[in-house]
This record gives sequence, structure tokens and C-alpha cells, in this order.
Amino acid sequence: MDYQKILEEIADEIKPLFSQGKVADYIPALRDVEPSDFAMSVEFIDGSVYNVGCSKKKFSIQSISKVFTYSMSLCIYEKSLYKRVWHEPSGDPFNSLVQLEYENGIPRNPFINAGAIVTADTLVSKYKNSKKAFQEIKRFIDEISSADITINEEVYHSELKYGFRNMALVNLMKSFKNIENDIDEVMKTYFKQCSFEMSTNELAKAMLYLANHGTHPLTNKKYLNQSQAKRVNSLLLTCGHYDASGDFAFRVGLPGKSGVGGGIVAIVPKMMALCVYSPKLNKQGNSLIGTKALELFTTKTGLSIF
Ligand code: GLU
Repeated sequence: MDYQKILEEIADEIKPLFSQGKVADYIPALRDVEPSDFAMSVEFIDGSVYNVGCSKKKFSIQSISKVFTYSMSLCIYEKSLYKRVWHEPSGDPFNSLVQLEYENGIPRNPFINAGAIVTADTLVSKYKNSKKAFQEIKRFIDEISSADITINEEVYHSELKYGFRNMALVNLMKSFKNIENDIDEVMKTYFKQCSFEMSTNELAKAMLYLANHGTHPLTNKKYLNQSQAKRVNSLLLTCGHYDASGDFAFRVGLPGKSGVGGGIVAIVPKMMALCVYSPKLNKQGNSLIGTKALELFTTKTGLSIF
């Protein structure tokens, strides 16, 4: 199959959609992006790579970071993590508070904000403070992406200042005793992980361990065992796109994770990882063109998991 040609066709076919969608603005610093940017990268487990668009341009990875922190925490805490973060789709927006109240502060899954905040808390507990936890998260992502990634300080401070709902979530969970550490330490860790900037090229490479049973195929380093990798992929399929997870599975048919920065990663098990970037979002906070581009990819190649 001529993957380069397929990516170029996709880049052409999504052009009419650029008038649709809206860049995230509830975090003011996220507004400062070029709305018509588009990039897509495909990396195979043998290391071959195909790119189209601005695939070297760094963007805010936001919720895509939840995949890395959950993998780290699952590796450390194994099954005991499931008691603090469940594995059901929420059917609610990414920053919703309602379910948490009547479910006693246990988030439905690690890919909504509440679940990722608990996950950040587990890493602060393991590494004793936010600074060390953040260093370990950075080390993990640097290693799996073969990059030296940095945070966007402006986005980080904007999240700290305007992350009202996230502060509400952490306080509510603390009241239910599902947060062990000082909430400022936890939120610094969470907001920093969301503020990392990476390109589609780096993110596709970083996700390869999930396409290869938990072992990075290019370095042979094991990050998760096979069963854990299955569970992370299952969660990506059922919960990776908030209250549009069903729609994403229906259209694309791959495990995937979006971020409000406009990135989406997806996995074709035993074969490849993909990343697409386009910052204008649909109503549920997922990249509108990114979702369409992945739908076109699986339609053109027949490479869905079904
Ligand atoms: N930092 C964002 C927030 O907490 C992440 C949301 C997302 O990417 O979905 O609101």
C-alpha cells in the first residue's frame, strides 16, 4: 500500500472542513494557534514513517498525556489502581463533576480529567513530590519518543489560573479521600503534563509500545506487560474521546486518545501508531478534522481493528 499517497489524499480531502469547528479557548493560552494547521504521521513497528503537513510542529498534547501517566501508574500499582480509577466510559464531558458526587469520588476512567488527576496523585505519592513526579513523567515520554520535550510555560500558567473545574474536581475527590497528596502538588503535576508540546511525528513514535504489546518495538524496552497493554488499548477504544468515544469508535474503529490542543493518537495493534493534529475542535472537544482524517485513513486502508 502506498501510505504516503494515502496521507496526501487525506490532506486534500479534509480541506473543505477547515471552516468548521472551534479552537479551545477555555484555557486562554490555547487560543494562540494557527487554526488551519494540519499534520498527520504514521509510524510502523518496523520504524518506517510517513508524514504529511506540519508534522514537525509542536503543539500542546493536553489529554494525550493521560495515556503516558496511566501507563506509568499501571506499571507501578498494577491492579490496585483499579480501585481508585474505574474503567467504564463516562458518557459525560471531559471535565464533568456530576458523576463524581454520586460515585463517591471514584472517576469512571483515567481519560476524563478526574481520572487523570487521580493518576497524577498516584505518581506524586510514588515519587514524593510534584517536582520529582514531573521529572519522571518527562523522562518516560522523552525515552519513548526519543525526544527532549518541554512544556509551554504560558499554557501551564494559563491552566493554573483558569482551571476552575479541574480545581473543583480535585477538591471533590479529596473530600472523598481519593486524593492522597496536597492538592497543589497534584494539580501542578497534572497541569504540567498537559502543557507538554510534541509533534505528530514524536507522538506517533511515542505510542508504538501500545501497538506492540507494551514493548517499544524500536528499543525492545518493556513498558507494560501484554495484559496491561491490552487494558490500556481497551480503555482508549471505550473512553479515549470523552462523550464522543462511541462516535469515534463507530467512525474510526481504532483505540485512540484526543486532547483539546487538537491532537489525536490512534493505534493499529501489532502494526502502527498514528497521530493527527488540527486545532479546531468539535462540540465534545475532539479535533474535528483529526477525527475525519483518521476515519478516511481506516476507510482507505481497511486497517481498523474490526
Ligand atoms: N488540560 C486540559 C484540562 O484539564 C485537558 C483537557 C483535554 O485535553 O481534554 O482541561
